[in-house]
Amino acid sequence: MTEQSPDRGPGPDIVRSRLTVVSGPSGVGKSSVVAELRRLHPDVYFSVSATTRPPRPGEVEGAHYHFVDRAEFARMVERGELLEHAEYAGNHYGTPRGPVEAALDAGRPAVLEIELQGARQVRRAMPAALLVMLVPPTWETLVSRLTGRGTEEADVVARRLAVAKDELAAESEFDAVVVNADVTTAAKELLTWVLPEKSAGRRSSTTQE
Ligand code: 5GP
Repeated sequence: MTEQSPDRGPGPDIVRSRLTVVSGPSGVGKSSVVAELRRLHPDVYFSVSATTRPPRPGEVEGAHYHFVDRAEFARMVERGELLEHAEYAGNHYGTPRGPVEAALDAGRPAVLEIELQGARQVRRAMPAALLVMLVPPTWETLVSRLTGRGTEEADVVARRLAVAKDELAAESEFDAVVVNADVTTAAKELLTWVLPEKSAGRRSSTTQE
């Protein structure tokens, strides 16, 4: 990232300090918390990822995801159109760069809800981004949420729990940790990180006007 000289006023780093990445293990309730956040604050820009995963029932193209085939995803990567991308459970996921940058340039806080590898790439590409990890109140809560989903075989659940353990172990790489004991409470707390005032206080003074 280029540093702005003090006499040039707010520059890219200031705008980009409003980018918040929300990550956390499978089963922690990221989607519910982000959906509640969207309800609380519709002015925030929520990135719509591209994915090679097929749509689930009820998912809408352009709203939940941009559903693309592998060839199109590879083209997006090749053209540098993705801010970050990762493979997760056999499918590719990535954040389209253009809409996020447009939102940030317009001074709109932007939120990415992505998994850990992607969060790490954003950290490298945009060091001013704020990384928030959503965690369960207890390990047992996550175990019961993942096992309680019903249909999965025991070994699939065991693998997901192993991945979740690794993801939780990355907590120290994050700027903030939000406990999801209750969706509304967690969304309200997350909002205080997403809105620029708090992230400005949390980050360096260069994020202040
Ligand atoms: P799902 O298939 O359940 O919608 O998402 C699987 C995982 O992929 C979730 O952890 C979700 O946060 C993550 N994910 C969704 N979009 C992106 C993206 O654009 N980039 C990355 N790195 N992960 C994503």
